[in-house]
Amino acid sequence: MVRFTVLASGSKGNSTVVTGGHTRILVDAGLSCRELFRRMALAGEDPATLDAVIVTHEHQDHINGLAVTARKLGIPVYFTEATHRAWVRWLTPRRQMTYAQWLEQCRKQAAERQAEAQAAECGCHDAETDTAADVDPVISAEAAAVEVSSADATSKAPESRIAREKPDPSWLPAVEFFESGRPFRIGDIAVSPFTIPHDASDPVGFVFEAEGARMALATDLGYMPPNVKAQLKKLDLLMLESNHDLEMLRDGPYPWQVKQRVLSRVGHLSNDTAADFLASAYDGQATYVILGHLSESNNLPELARVAAERALSNHASLLANRLVLAAQDEPLSPIHLS
Ligand SMILES: [Zn+2]
Ligand SMILES: [Zn+2]
Repeated sequence: MVRFTVLASGSKGNSTVVTGGHTRILVDAGLSCRELFRRMALAGEDPATLDAVIVTHEHQDHINGLAVTARKLGIPVYFTEATHRAWVRWLTPRRQMTYAQWLEQCRKQAAERQAEAQAAECGCHDAETDTAADVDPVISAEAAAVEVSSADATSKAPESRIAREKPDPSWLPAVEFFESGRPFRIGDIAVSPFTIPHDASDPVGFVFEAEGARMALATDLGYMPPNVKAQLKKLDLLMLESNHDLEMLRDGPYPWQVKQRVLSRVGHLSNDTAADFLASAYDGQATYVILGHLSESNNLPELARVAAERALSNHASLLANRLVLAAQDEPLSPIHLS
C-alpha cells in the first residue's frame, strides 16, 4: 500500500506520513508530539506503526516535536549530518560543548539508559511520562542552559556533572545520517534526498518510491534550480511549495528584512514561481499535485489554486493532475496511490 498523508503544512508546522509496503515514515515533526498524534488519529494513521522520522531541515516549523515524538515511539531519526548538528545547537544554544564532546556525552547517556532499562523490571514506564514528554524542548534547553550559567557563576561545578543531572534534550533513540544526492532505503521505501536552496544548514527535498509509485516533497525553497527540476519528473504525486502571492507579500505586514528573506533565492517559493515550473519544466505526469507551505499572512488558497490551475492547463494531461491544497490547521485525507 502506498499512501501520502499531509498532517500539516505551513509556517506553524510541517509533517507528512509516507507509507510504502510495510514501512511508514514521518517526514518532519513540526508540531508538538501530542498534536501530531491527534492529527494522525484524525487522518486514520497509527503513530505506533511509524518506523522512522526523516528531517528536511532544522527550521522550527519542521522539528518542533521531533525529539519527543522519536523518543515516545522509540524510532530512529534520519538527518544529514549538518542538519543534525544545527538541530543540536538549536536545542542546546548556550552549552559550551564541541560537537565531538556532545557525541561522547550522548554515547554515555545511551549506555546509562540501557543499563537503567536492564536493571528495571518489566512493566516499568519510561521516565518520560505524557506530561513530561510534551514539555517544549526549547524551554527545556533554555532551562538547562540557565542552570549551567548560574552554576558556572557561583560554584564552577564541572559541566559534565550538570549534564548528567539534567537529561540531554537532544537525546534520540537512534540517529541515522544520509547525504543529499545519495539515495538510500528505509524498509520498503527508497528515499532520494536532493538539495534545495533555502537558508538552513543543509536543506533537502525528497523523492520517495515504493511499489512503483513515486512521490516528491519540495517545500521551503527560494527558487527552482535545475537539480530540483530534474528530480520532479515521472512522479505520481508532487507536493510543491506555493508560499506567497508577491503583491500580498510586498504590501503585507512583514518587516522589510523578513520580506527580503522570503523573496530571496534561499527563501520561499511564490505562487508565480511554482506556477512557472508547473507550466514549463514539469512533465505533467503526477496524478496529484499538492500545493504546500502556504503563508497565512501573504497568500490566499484561491490565489495559489488559480495560479497553479492556469499553469497546469498548459498540459494536455491536465485531467490527470488533481490539485489539492495542504492546510496548516488540519490534516488532508490520506492520498492512496495503490
Ligand atoms: Zn524552512
Ligand atoms: Zn518551513
